Amino acid sequence: MRCEHGFYLIEIPIPVPLKTVNCYVTKSERGWHLIDTGFHTEEAKAAWRHALAEMHISPRDVVEIVVTHFHPDHMGLAGWLQEYTGAPVKISAEGQALVQHLWIDKQEAELFGGFAYEHGMQPRDRETVQDYLNGFSKYIRPIPEFTVFEEGERFVWANEYTAISTPGHADGHMIFHSSHTGVVVAGDLLLPKITPNVGYFPGFQANPLKAFINSLRKIQSYRLDTVLSGHRYIYSNGNQRADELIRHHDKRLLEIIALLEAASTATQVSEKLFAHFSKALDPLQLLFALQETVAHLIYLRDAGVVHCSKNSSGVTMFSLEQTVHLDADSL
Ligand SMILES: [Zn+2]
Repeated sequence: MRCEHGFYLIEIPIPVPLKTVNCYVTKSERGWHLIDTGFHTEEAKAAWRHALAEMHISPRDVVEIVVTHFHPDHMGLAGWLQEYTGAPVKISAEGQALVQHLWIDKQEAELFGGFAYEHGMQPRDRETVQDYLNGFSKYIRPIPEFTVFEEGERFVWANEYTAISTPGHADGHMIFHSSHTGVVVAGDLLLPKITPNVGYFPGFQANPLKAFINSLRKIQSYRLDTVLSGHRYIYSNGNQRADELIRHHDKRLLEIIALLEAASTATQVSEKLFAHFSKALDPLQLLFALQETVAHLIYLRDAGVVHCSKNSSGVTMFSLEQTVHLDADSL
């Protein structure tokens, strides 16, 4: 099993196109610590049982479960792991509030319908996503009893790590950084090869792309030599990756501006932007594509580049402001 700076990488299978989530196991004087968990599926539970047995870790030796953010692939199995080990589950205060809002108060499926209509998603696609969201709760239950932490909290693992708030991909997203080693447990902030989804959803961050770019800029003041990423693989030079991700979004914003020759709904922009995907996107990709497009359009609106207004059916139309001069620096 691969061990990097005292962290064992455990790849947990997940039932979405990404296929796996990277979870980490690390040791302190107190016992073993788990970081991120997977969806609640039989395969994921078997993978955890197998990994812990292989490392000769008895469930009662686990003293802490930490999640980087509330997304189901990172948090979904935390409740089962809490039952299995008896350990506290730690999440940011914002992350806990979102779990409550989305899945205990059941707001996600409810809010989706209005959001998708407002942005022009076709009824058939709305239904596909809605059905998926309605059937989703099995992947995240039981909801654990959370212990919340804030930015700046120290975690003593193989070394001392400090929580840094990095919203954008998810509200309440935290990374954990060791100034001693330059290692960062990065959740979904700094993925290699793929760009983390940055999407808008009602009731969340008003301008998630701006938050994401600000988070990337913020972490540039830290040494990010080794990145323990939430998907794909562990890699070096997170500072360079943060720069690449900022440049990717600059490019994406310019692409969207070019697509806005005529007033369009977010769905129309999204269909052109994600035209390289097959027509039959899976429900999660349909949702992500729309959310990501809306996040970019909101960013452009707040930057004064794009104007939005509702048409007579209550659907939001985006168009370019007449007076703007466009280049990447003005974004
Ligand atoms: Zn995520």
